[in-house]
Amino acid sequence: MTQQLDTLYFAPETFECEVKELYTLDEDTLGVVLDRTAFFPAGGGQSGDRGTLGDCDVENVETRDGAILHLVKNCEETVGKLAVGTHLTAKIDRNKRFSDMQQHSGEHILSGIVHRLFGYSNVGFHLSDREVTVDFDGVLTENDICKVEDLVNQAIWDNRAVRVFFPTDAEKDQLSYRSKKEVDGPLRLVEIAGIDLCACCAPHVRHTGEIGALRVIKSEKNKGGTRLWILCGKRLMADTRQKLEQNRLISTMLSAKQNETAVFVQKLKADHAALQYELVGVRRQLLGLQAAALPEQDVQVSFLDADADTLRYAAGLFAGRARSFAFVCGEGGNFVLQTQTNFDLQPVMQLLRTQCGARGGGRGSVMQGSVHADKETLQSLLESAGKAAK
Ligand SMILES: [Zn+2]
Repeated sequence: MTQQLDTLYFAPETFECEVKELYTLDEDTLGVVLDRTAFFPAGGGQSGDRGTLGDCDVENVETRDGAILHLVKNCEETVGKLAVGTHLTAKIDRNKRFSDMQQHSGEHILSGIVHRLFGYSNVGFHLSDREVTVDFDGVLTENDICKVEDLVNQAIWDNRAVRVFFPTDAEKDQLSYRSKKEVDGPLRLVEIAGIDLCACCAPHVRHTGEIGALRVIKSEKNKGGTRLWILCGKRLMADTRQKLEQNRLISTMLSAKQNETAVFVQKLKADHAALQYELVGVRRQLLGLQAAALPEQDVQVSFLDADADTLRYAAGLFAGRARSFAFVCGEGGNFVLQTQTNFDLQPVMQLLRTQCGARGGGRGSVMQGSVHADKETLQSLLESAGKAAK
């Protein structure tokens, strides 16, 4: 059984230890059991600590069958360095540890305040390098979230003490605390003065001021409740820096004030839609002129770089200049067949299917489909179809 050092705050970042057991967990991973450890093993929705054992990197720490396994890459650099009986200096990655502590302690304040204000419980917590999510079993509106966020940050700036302790059986009965499930082993409680009391196994900051600040960056309805994505402290700083830089770039491109970029983008979108509308009109005018200039013939075949609406519009115009039918094809192979006489389009479509592998259909005077064949092949095939049927 590994002795866990300072299970209150997981304070020592460096400690001496001895390898007690060594397992090859798979081709790539070794599991190292130590006589003593201050590493936090993954649990309660949070990934384990990273760090080093001697000069070997610890990538995660897990509890398996009651043993605390320090996971180390099984490779040339680690071979022979972690034999049973080896004495080592272990070091915990302070950056990851502190970032995790900020997120997790922030989550406790948030969950405590949501519970007090709305009576909702935290029913799911996930803390990885990528994201931090908290699930509540009730609906939180945008207004609720703003209110909670303000109260959480006030509690952070009040710099309240965080106390971690193991209550006696007598104390346990007197205390009312949040807990996700029945806890095995000794009950470890985390108290944030005046805000929250919660059963938890993870490392925490000693004073709430260390969290810096908390923001809810996204919320979603989730199984009748609400999932919140939160960020605290260093991670919030990094996220904010990146998003502010995005906004700064947009503001420079639009020559807009940084707090007015959305209004400018909205205007830009409206301008774009108006231009798009105008473009369709001009394009139709142009197609009208193009159609008027066409000599009347049996079949009109055209290839246009245009969207589906424009293809249909052009087919209507060009059919007016065709004794048999018009065929208009877009860049992607989508086409429209149209006639303004009583010419039967079915045999033409059938020919396109059998000769060029076309797909599509329709009835009456308009048919649509897609075809992938070169222009010359289509042109001669369609012209002969238009003549042959007369
Ligand atoms: Zn916790």
